Amino acid sequence: MITPKNNIINNITIVGDIDKQLLGLTDQHIHYLTKHSIGSECLVNKNLADKNLANHNVMKPVQASSMSTIGIHQQINSAFKALKRSAKTAGIELKIASGFRSFERQLQIWNNKFTGRTTIKKSNGETVDISRLSDEKIIEAILLYSALPGASRHHWGCDIDVYAPNLLAAGESLQLEPWEYQQSGPMGKLSLWLTQHAAEFGFYLPYSCYRGGVAAEPWHLSFVPLAKQYQAIFNLQSLQECLINTDIAGKRVIINNLTEIEKRYINNVNTSE
Ligand SMILES: [Zn+2]
Repeated sequence: MITPKNNIINNITIVGDIDKQLLGLTDQHIHYLTKHSIGSECLVNKNLADKNLANHNVMKPVQASSMSTIGIHQQINSAFKALKRSAKTAGIELKIASGFRSFERQLQIWNNKFTGRTTIKKSNGETVDISRLSDEKIIEAILLYSALPGASRHHWGCDIDVYAPNLLAAGESLQLEPWEYQQSGPMGKLSLWLTQHAAEFGFYLPYSCYRGGVAAEPWHLSFVPLAKQYQAIFNLQSLQECLINTDIAGKRVIINNLTEIEKRYINNVNTSE
């Protein structure tokens, strides 16, 4: 890893209930960005966010339908600000497309895909026809882009999907597809800049390329000082217990294949931070 320019990333210890944070069962560690300030760091009053906290095991789906609110880990705020400032000097207006996601939200995404309510995409952008697929194959197709609830790095809040609206042509909208981040795509400049500078601010790309599990996600940034702590305490037992008590589509096959899923999708990330 490149030595960071500043001391933003030193001595960061996760505060609060790390086990619940890991599984997306709390948002106690999250700062919410307002609708108007997405990307400009103006934070919603933390007390408002706290009101949304559930006292029991599974968080209420407060963020389930809200696309206008983006949350990030409280402890990445200054590092993200610094990253954003630096990007701006290179002509890149860095914004977050997706930040924190709760267990409930990830469950909704999962169940919608499994049941065909929303489409499942291949890495070439084509839609998967799930009508003749076995549960095993549907699960495999979903896992290319969507994590199992309880195993998404977006639960942690220190992982964010980024883009630069100023690099889009007028009338063009972002699809969050790999071609957009290739050298010739609208986000090519952003991709190159991230490869060269993200590490200076403690960030890296866990899905820098396809490794046989999750597809390449050149938009997905992870803040290493926090992410490595979450990764270190991840254990399959807790995930399994959580999923057994959840109304998740494909449950039997998921539970039967959990060890393989961990190896192929959860732990199979870029290790050169
Ligand atoms: Zn992501």
